[in-house]
Amino acid sequence: MRKFFYALLAISCTSHVLAQQLPTAFKSQEVSPGIYVLEGEDGFGGGNVGLLVGDDYVVLIDDAMYSTVGLLIDAATQLAGRPVDFVINTHVHGDHVGGNEFVADLGAIIVAHDNSRKRMIPDPQLNTGPGALPVLTFSDKVTFHINGDEAFVFHIKNAHTDGDAAILFRNANVIAAGDVMFNYLFPFIDLDSGGSVSGYIAGQQKLLAMANDETVIIPGHGPVASKADLETNLKVLIDAKTRVKVLVDKGLNADEIVAANPLALYHDDYNWGFITTERMTRTLIRSLTGK
Ligand SMILES: [Zn+2]
Repeated sequence: MRKFFYALLAISCTSHVLAQQLPTAFKSQEVSPGIYVLEGEDGFGGGNVGLLVGDDYVVLIDDAMYSTVGLLIDAATQLAGRPVDFVINTHVHGDHVGGNEFVADLGAIIVAHDNSRKRMIPDPQLNTGPGALPVLTFSDKVTFHINGDEAFVFHIKNAHTDGDAAILFRNANVIAAGDVMFNYLFPFIDLDSGGSVSGYIAGQQKLLAMANDETVIIPGHGPVASKADLETNLKVLIDAKTRVKVLVDKGLNADEIVAANPLALYHDDYNWGFITTERMTRTLIRSLTGK
């Protein structure tokens, strides 16, 4: 059922238009005291959303889609008891930042990496009006000192896009990975927005180095994860790249490699509507050959 809803990501991620199957509400899971993950119920609501609630401030990590942000804010306000103060955008895609204008209008300050803001400016589906663009951007890292914790926001270079931000809550030992992690789903590596396979692998290695066995990882898509889950996903990506490279090195062209189906062993567990096994294979070919 989950994978069915993710099929709708294809629509939102590529063209940012309304998904057909919208959620009826957002459900929450408290992964650490005061830190929640929110996701659409009975429909695709956008990427996973993080919510930090505490004495000082209310912080959202991403704000779903233009079409679902109202439901998201209903759920967030119910949990927090007051409006959102900050939104941290993990990257530029419309299923993560489509709610910016709506939340800014309620008084929130939007924070993002420099490159994410740059990519939003010329996009009429993201630069929808006053407040849609982040007002505070950073190049490498920035730390929020709030609610008795440090939220360390850092850039991951050329991974899912060229503007990825992940967040480590140091005391809570929670990492919000954005789309640098798709948990048990082939990852979307957006080569046209500055993403790269090698950067994605390096990014996941960077996240792993920050994690221990108790760390809770909030992926951009898929269920809440552990360090072991991230290790498994990373191992699959590295092996998938190696399998494709063997065929590239043999001189096979893209269609011949797809026909050989080098990722067949991962199909049942990782194929999904947006990033099919074939699309993952073609992304790896393109990243290895440049075409
Ligand atoms: Zn994305």
